Amino acid sequence: MVCDLCTKAYDSVAIKINNAHICRECEEKIIAITVWDPDYQMWINRIKRFWQHLLGEKGYA
Ligand SMILES: [Zn+2]
Repeated sequence: MVCDLCTKAYDSVAIKINNAHICRECEEKIIAITVWDPDYQMWINRIKRFWQHLLGEKGYA
């Protein structure tokens, strides 16, 4: 299985929503991240893509 946030393979899934998955590493990062984190915008973009993946290519009308 591949994490839909970091696109890395993982052993244990932390969050599973329909066919979208977030690995434990990403879950911990998302929980701990702050707006002052230099990677904050990157994670926001990843989460956006995650939701787009979750909602399908058409997105929400
Ligand atoms: Zn991940």
